[in-house]
Amino acid sequence: MPKFQLLRDFLVSDGVIGEDQLYQPGRPPQAWLELVHETAYVTAYCGGTLDAKAQRRIGLPWSEGLVRRTCTAVGGTILTAKLALNQGLACNTAGGTHHAFPDYGSGFCIFNDIAIATRLLKAQNLLKTILVVDLDVHQGDGTAWIFRNDPTVFTFSMHCAVNFPSRKQISDLDIPLNEGTEDDEYLRQLANHLPGLVTQIEPDLVLYDAGVDPHRNDRLGKLALTDEGLYRRDKYVLETCAQAGYPVACVIGGGYGKDMGALIQRHAYLHRAASEVYQKYC
Ligand SMILES: [Zn+2]
Repeated sequence: MPKFQLLRDFLVSDGVIGEDQLYQPGRPPQAWLELVHETAYVTAYCGGTLDAKAQRRIGLPWSEGLVRRTCTAVGGTILTAKLALNQGLACNTAGGTHHAFPDYGSGFCIFNDIAIATRLLKAQNLLKTILVVDLDVHQGDGTAWIFRNDPTVFTFSMHCAVNFPSRKQISDLDIPLNEGTEDDEYLRQLANHLPGLVTQIEPDLVLYDAGVDPHRNDRLGKLALTDEGLYRRDKYVLETCAQAGYPVACVIGGGYGKDMGALIQRHAYLHRAASEVYQKYC
């Protein structure tokens, strides 16, 4: 999928970001992946020896290139989280693979970058409390399960009730939305919950999954947000956190459609909003 490179190039060519704001992540060592995932799974996936059934559950054909991209995306979320701690706000141009569980991947997700970055930064004593704000249209089931017994990681997922995964996990806060929910109702639900959560948790870092699959034209979404609705959502999340002084690290999450140009535009709203919020508050 060329989406990630296209997004990066678009952000630069459209003037959303300058070349001096770009950072290149490295591939994380296997030990970091194993802060969340079982050794046998990581070894099998990276070595191309995962059995056919487990591979089908992921839904993406294995290749050396995909292993490289997957690991680099995890490295990107780790780097994004560290930049956010230092600078107040940072965005990955990939990431948000929230359906990955410790011993298997699913729904196009192989390793859970959100969970790995969280565990690593905690292990490195860079933070204690984290708030995961997952607004991808699909429930962040892997993340919810991984942190189900961890009181220092609060998982908040707002998603379409009748979408994948059919078997939901229990986040610290789940807001399931009706199929066809539009901008105003969506933003009203968000405003009902997010400010209170931030005040209550006082996180050292907010990890925001800004999936664009709630868009009305998304192939897998089932919600009905407009382009403007997505932009207002991202701006609202970032402003709510940054205004109160909480650092935010963003990942782009899901987004599906045949019109690649339109999809890139949707993902770029996150970076546009982040650039504006950064200049104002950070
Ligand atoms: Zn999704």
